[in-house]
Amino acid sequence: MKNNGRFDRTFANRMNELVRLYRGPHEGSNLFTCLLGLLLVPGEEAWSRVPEEPLSILHRWGINRRSIRKIGTCPCGNEHPRTLRHLVEILRNAITERRFDLLHANGTLTGLEFKDASGFHAVFKTADLRRLVEKLSEHVGGSRARGDTGDTDFVASWQREPFHRRSCKWVRRIRRRNRLGVATRREAIRAGHRPCKTCRP
Ligand SMILES: [Zn+2]
Repeated sequence: MKNNGRFDRTFANRMNELVRLYRGPHEGSNLFTCLLGLLLVPGEEAWSRVPEEPLSILHRWGINRRSIRKIGTCPCGNEHPRTLRHLVEILRNAITERRFDLLHANGTLTGLEFKDASGFHAVFKTADLRRLVEKLSEHVGGSRARGDTGDTDFVASWQREPFHRRSCKWVRRIRRRNRLGVATRREAIRAGHRPCKTCRP
């Protein structure tokens, strides 16, 4: 697999789609797989698009500030992570070195716990992870999620299960920003949607 910029963007956009579209029994593991992919696959050039923003804006990236229990210290004596990009690097290293735990409850993935030698300790709930994965993929992908370009036969919503023929009356009831164009019936079903009972796509 050639790891160039275009590949990174395509990959990240695909991860974004997967996380936004899929609602089903394996939602937690789907999310985790996307996070792994996003942290490990893209090259340095892609990471340069992750902003050097201070941790005080973490909530805008979907991360509850309290998810980070301890910031830890750098060998250089500085506290870290100090920026979003730094945090992403820490998560990336933790995954490469397998310093994380999957948190489960009743057979469902509920979150991820990260720890490293510097004292960094974070516990992310799956809802936080979802938003983080969406944001990361938007930045690495270099664009916001595709949304609805208006030229596909089918339309789904990021928030609901059914998918529709474009002509269905229910499509008008989906807020424009939540619409997602889907090319084929198969793609919609694979992403966890079910056919609408009105338009029977
Ligand atoms: Zn319909």
